[in-house]
Amino acid sequence: MKRVALLGATGSIGRQAIEIVEAHPGLELCAAASGASSLDHVRAPLKQVGGDLTELLDRAEPDVVLNAVVGFAGIHATLWALERGIDLALANKESLVAAGELALAAQQRGGGRLLPVDSEHSALFQCLEGRCPEQVESLVLTGSGGPFRGRTRDELGQVTPEEALAHPTWRMGPKITVDSATLANKGLELLEAHFLFGLPYPQIEVVLQPTSIVHSLVRFRDGTALAHLGNPDMRAPISYALTYPERAATPLPALDLTSLTLQFEAPDTETFPMLALAREAGERGGTLPCAFNAANEVAVAAFLARRLPFLAIAEVVEDALARADGSPAHDLGDLLEADRSARSLAGEGLPVA
Ligand code: NAD
Ligand code: MG
Repeated sequence: MKRVALLGATGSIGRQAIEIVEAHPGLELCAAASGASSLDHVRAPLKQVGGDLTELLDRAEPDVVLNAVVGFAGIHATLWALERGIDLALANKESLVAAGELALAAQQRGGGRLLPVDSEHSALFQCLEGRCPEQVESLVLTGSGGPFRGRTRDELGQVTPEEALAHPTWRMGPKITVDSATLANKGLELLEAHFLFGLPYPQIEVVLQPTSIVHSLVRFRDGTALAHLGNPDMRAPISYALTYPERAATPLPALDLTSLTLQFEAPDTETFPMLALAREAGERGGTLPCAFNAANEVAVAAFLARRLPFLAIAEVVEDALARADGSPAHDLGDLLEADRSARSLAGEGLPVA
């Protein structure tokens, strides 16, 4: 039996993870946690609503931590697993983006596995498996482009949270859905890919594939590429991470190839500046990826609360990044301070309530 600690059990990823665990005889939940919502319907020996996730993990003694918390709040659980060499199935990309080199150092010390749950990174992980770095030319992250793909800036001035929350291909929690609409999600994924796979930013491309069938590609030095295809369904990468390296069967339908047409297009980085802002934060390094994430969290929350127009999300983040100190974090204390400070800078950029 593999003992799974599921953090963020009531969310979009969390609920799909419960389905996967219940359908697999070799997996069991040893703990479940949420931020505020009730866990009454979740069957697990240890349950916790709110509070310190690392205390729960200490008691649960899991074989694998599935971190499906949303936002920077997942940082302590990510570092807990990496530091102890316990397998980390990571949906909570924000924690890896924010912790960056600190997370990688913790993984080095712990010696455990970091198994991506994000569909693109699961795809890249699978395409890269067993290949040495010299063979790899670049990573190609795919994105759907979100609900506003093809629109001009003029057409985005008045968009509402409801419109931003209507994602064309994926059903997800509100924060990541807004991130998909601004392309901040692809920006976070660019940073995530850099830390997961160690390639420099110029070797990580982003291309749009509106139906989300091609989950990402790896280009090799012989001019060929390997792609990962599947229906847009997070149960596949969740199952892959939880059963790695077994690749267990899932109830998902096979791809209907004859119904597919695969189109690709370049992202419009002028209309959607968040992708370029993330790339710049990554290139400049230090705690700027942490600041990018923190400022984005503040701006997205304000947009969802109707305190900030859609296009101002990127303005708030750009302004916070321009003023963030960005010096590298030497320990968790530095990182928490970088996060706090970027939140405060972003808060100054919000309209007065
Ligand atoms: P969601 O909003 O649906 O769920 C978030 C979960 O986190 C909830 O269970 C909530 O109670 C819990 N939570 C929030 N703050 C917490 C805290 N302080 N302590 C403990 N639990 C807390 O979000 P989601 O869409 O499931 O996304 C979760 C993570 O997975 C995000 O990082 C997201 O970027 C990533 N992700 C999601 C998808 C998807 O399809 N939903 C795909 C790829 C990556
Ligand atoms: Mg993704």
